[in-house]
Parts: sequence; C-alpha cells; structure tokens
Amino acid sequence: MNNAPPDADARRAARPVVCYPPDHLPAPDAVWTARLRAGLMPRETVTVPPREARCLRIPAGHILRITCIEGPQVGDLNLWNAADLSERFYSGKTRALHGTHLTTGHRLWSAFPHLRPMATILHDSLDWYGFDADGAGVHDVIGTRCDPYTDTLLNGGPYHHCCHSNLVRALAAETGLPPDRAEPHVHDVFNVFMCTGFTRDTHRYFTKASPVRPGDSIELFAEIDLLAALSACPWGDCASNSTDTAVCHPLRMDCLAPDQAALAEWQPPPPNGYDRSHGL
Ligand SMILES: [Zn+2]
Repeated sequence: MNNAPPDADARRAARPVVCYPPDHLPAPDAVWTARLRAGLMPRETVTVPPREARCLRIPAGHILRITCIEGPQVGDLNLWNAADLSERFYSGKTRALHGTHLTTGHRLWSAFPHLRPMATILHDSLDWYGFDADGAGVHDVIGTRCDPYTDTLLNGGPYHHCCHSNLVRALAAETGLPPDRAEPHVHDVFNVFMCTGFTRDTHRYFTKASPVRPGDSIELFAEIDLLAALSACPWGDCASNSTDTAVCHPLRMDCLAPDQAALAEWQPPPPNGYDRSHGL
C-alpha cells in the first residue's frame, strides 16, 4: 500500500455533495395517494411458488401489491414496459436518485434512453425499519440477483432455481420467447423485502434475516403499462446464503384497480425529453 500524502486528512475532509438532491424528485401527494389506495378493487392474483418466478401484467394506473403470505421471504422483481421489453427497470439510476433502499414515495426508473418513472411506491408496511445498527435497510437496489454464472464461478456448479434463471423461465413462458432470447431482457432487480447493507470495515454487500412477516406488503403504482416478474428467492429470508437448505415460502402478487375518479388528474409520464443527439 502506498504511503498517505501529507495532506491526506484534508483530502478526506472534502464535503460530501448529494448528487441528486431530493427536492428535484418530489414525492407523490399524500392526499392523492390516500384517495388512490381507498377502495382498491382486485383484478388478478398470482402466487409465486418458492424457488420459482411468475409474471403479472399491471396496466398503467393500477397497483402491484406484493405480499408476504406464509413466512419470511424475499423477492427479486423485474419490470418492463409491457409493450416494449427494451424499456426496463434501471436499478443503478434508481439507486443514484433515491438511495440504496426504497420506500414509500420513491420511484422505480426505466433504463436509457427512456429514463422515466415506471412505478411509484405508494405503501410499504416495513417503512418503520429504517436503517439498523448494522447500516442495513429493507428493499434494496444494490444487489443484482442470485444467478448460475456466479454459482459456477465461485461454487463450482450452477443452481438452476436461482432468481436469474427463475426470471428467465417466467419471462419465456409469459412472452413465448425462447429462453436464450428471453435471458438478455432479465436485469438487475428490485430486492423486495430483502434486508441488506455494506459491512462497516470493507463495504462488502451483506444480507441479514429479513424483518418481513406474513401480512407485510409493498405497493407499486404503475406509471406505464407494466410486465412484472417476481422470483421467490431460494435464499428464503436471507438469514444465510444457502440455496437448497434455506426455508422458502411463496409470495403473492395482486393487480389492484383504484377508483377511477382518483385518476382523473393523473397523466402517465411522457418519454424522456432528451433528443439523443449526443452533441453531434
Ligand atoms: Zn435470489
């Protein structure tokens, strides 16, 4: 390791600057959110079996509710524009805009060249958790998803019921795409109910047992027509990093319709305004 320069302390003392101040991203109006959530009507329900994934389509103006139903379980969520799979959830930019963990009022943004809100979190029953003494929070956008490539690299063999492969199979079944054409559409996830952080000493990604319990839920308002895929992760509640031995539970996805009067003044977000000229 190199010796620190004489002015190392001064360099380290530079003031942190929040890249994207939160006042540039106003949260949805609380009164409007309450009106939207009053009297939700069920449209469709899908149960995601343990160590599997399932898809559900959520029309714009509807709500995706993900519920823990039998026991602590985390889920790996992918979102696409239902009419254009190239517009998909952008975990990295969402993290940069809102932080490492999402809760009520935060938005899930789509990838370039679209970059617009795909969904807005209206309700999070785990919003009380905050950040704990380990620096961990719930619902992260820092993890990627468990996958067979990393298994092969680190553990010597693939585990086929990992979230990546679960999402590939679910998307292939939903769209009719062959698996090799479905796979490139699977992307870094929104880790629903997962409790994660970075270790204090080396800033390595860690998980701990999720605080989610049956009855807990998170609700996402669809800003555009969405295709959602959710994997019930083989790590279960992520208390350990086993796959075959972890206790796993199903998750439920509901598509819910709000009172149409509450949507009277809502407009779907337009495509991003950048003209893609890139200075040319
Ligand atoms: Zn997983």
